[in-house]
Amino acid sequence: MVYTQQYDVIVVGGGHAGTEAALAAARIGVRTLLLTQNMETLGQMSCNPAIGGIGKGHLVKEIDALGGEMAVAIDHAGIQFRTLNASKGPAVRATRAQADRALYRTHIRQKLENQENLTIFQQSCDDFIIENDRIVGVVTQMGVKFMAKTVVLTAGTFLGGVIHIGLENHQGGRAGDAPSNALAKRLRALPFRVDRLKTGTPARLDARTLDYSVMQEQPGDTPLPVFSYLGNRAQHPRQISCYITHTNSKTHDIIRSGLDRSPMYTGVIEGIGPRYCPSIEDKIMRFADKDTHQIFVEPEGLNSIEVYPNGISTSLPFDVQMELIHSIRGFENAHIIRPGYAIEYDFFDPRDLKQSLETKYIQGLFFAGQINGTTGYEEAGAQGLMAGANAALQSLGKEPLILGREQAYLGVLIDDLATLGTKEPYRMFTSRAEYRLLLREDNADIRLTELGYKVGLVDEHRWQAFNAKQEAVEQEKQRLRANWVHPNHPVVPELNKILKNPVTREHSLEELIRRPEMTYATLMSLPELDSGLQQQNEQAAEQVEIQIKYAGYIARQLDEIERTKRNENTQIPADMDFSLISGLSNEVVAKLSDARPETIGKASRISGITPAAISLLLVYLKKHG
Ligand code: FAD
Repeated sequence: MVYTQQYDVIVVGGGHAGTEAALAAARIGVRTLLLTQNMETLGQMSCNPAIGGIGKGHLVKEIDALGGEMAVAIDHAGIQFRTLNASKGPAVRATRAQADRALYRTHIRQKLENQENLTIFQQSCDDFIIENDRIVGVVTQMGVKFMAKTVVLTAGTFLGGVIHIGLENHQGGRAGDAPSNALAKRLRALPFRVDRLKTGTPARLDARTLDYSVMQEQPGDTPLPVFSYLGNRAQHPRQISCYITHTNSKTHDIIRSGLDRSPMYTGVIEGIGPRYCPSIEDKIMRFADKDTHQIFVEPEGLNSIEVYPNGISTSLPFDVQMELIHSIRGFENAHIIRPGYAIEYDFFDPRDLKQSLETKYIQGLFFAGQINGTTGYEEAGAQGLMAGANAALQSLGKEPLILGREQAYLGVLIDDLATLGTKEPYRMFTSRAEYRLLLREDNADIRLTELGYKVGLVDEHRWQAFNAKQEAVEQEKQRLRANWVHPNHPVVPELNKILKNPVTREHSLEELIRRPEMTYATLMSLPELDSGLQQQNEQAAEQVEIQIKYAGYIARQLDEIERTKRNENTQIPADMDFSLISGLSNEVVAKLSDARPETIGKASRISGITPAAISLLLVYLKKHG
């Protein structure tokens, strides 16, 4: 049967990529269908109940700046918020929140159910309708045909999913969900390059059986961080602590003794796992000299007895899982509610994608999320938003939204995937971005909200709030530039207690903020200097300080971007001996020799090739070219 309604965009899958994709398309204003296996798992967190972290928090802020939902959802569902790297520079500071799973799902579902232009249908998608290399619709398990101009596939770990616990395995999309086998078979018949990856998750424990008195408590930060640019602390639910415990040499012995029944170490699992989120058996084998590993004991929700022991993901047999958990301090009497497991699944080589996330072989078909070789909710949500937006724009006959590496982590993510591909589950890190100083969490709105507004992703409310903040920042910067402190100003004695070099001449307030020992907040706490901005608009106040303090570094990075752009097409000789360039690290020489980029532009996009390396390369080419 063919469904009567014609859609502009069909999104297949209601995980993190799918929900952002569906919302983005519908917000742009086109008729959108979200087709998902199970309504109850919309926005489900398959693994750890947390959003954000280093690199990932940056993606969440960018999703938010473009009108997406992840940051808003976690502001309503976060039960412990922290700022990681708080003592370091603003470029690497990152927000992370522990989530109440149920609250997170509820928020996402409510947003989907109330979104104009969006229809939901619960059923598995088993087939695609393709005519002349263009997708025109999908077929569900029941045989219902939905026709559309574009389709965004976001099937996560479900395509050909196989779950492993010890040497036992069975088919599944994740624990408790059916795999997507019919669609996996159909996709394997198309010209995409397909391979297998794996990921794993730890056992979940019953909080009532843990001894928290022997663990280290880790409360959230004060003041409480907020994720969304439109969010506030009052939206956060009740806050609770996480705890920390450790593995020990007995735990490690138990794990080693179980390796002969490990699917990873007996070759049953062939897919490659996430390097930066390894299983506990992997950690013990790879870091054999370490006799302890940290475990974050994370609550799954305010009204849940389940606990997520972060750091001991495993696919060892259940009896070994029990033994190893009972060997850990505080877990001696732990009851396992759900066993840990690993899952192997199909992913597609992302080099078969355009920068818009449309596939190169089937027009109108977009891929987003875990199926592109990434891991993590944030990476999935980020791709989902871009793929959903671009599918909608294509259905309207408009140009795609493509972000550069200098504009956003979103740009870095998609460019890395589409140009370099990946052999292991890809996760975001700040080190993947060449222009970290510009791509900060605090300025994602300045970088992206206008672009989002232009394509229809950002609504009037967000746009007005953004403009008000920008105006407040500019006014305050002007005030700080225009106001001066004279050596006989009444505030000077107080000021001199803080400053290393006392005030002996006139200084603008801007100059004083630039001093390393001074902060905007401290200066504003002194009599007669405050404008009240800190109280009225905390985000604007933070922006004022960062823009003033880091103005020099930011200008230098903007220069680097300009220079790289100018030299984008500068040719690199095919027989270039990179080892002759003095100052390049061995790693950079190896990467360049391996990739043999034809131009400076291509060289600059190789992961790990820094702007500094590009400068050395340019100097060398100029001298010897
Ligand atoms: P998913 O969230 O998996 O969503 C896929 C959606 O598609 C689901 O709603 C599903 O029902 C639907 N679907 C699938 N097939 C069809 C179909 N044919 N028709 C209709 N709907 C369909 N991330 C980390 O960062 N670190 C980790 O350590 C980590 N460990 C993990 C361990 C396990 C066991 C699993 C399962 C995941 C783990 N993840 C981890 C990954 C994280 O869960 C994913 O990266 C993220 O959920 C991917 O989002 P997604 O939207 O691409 O897919």
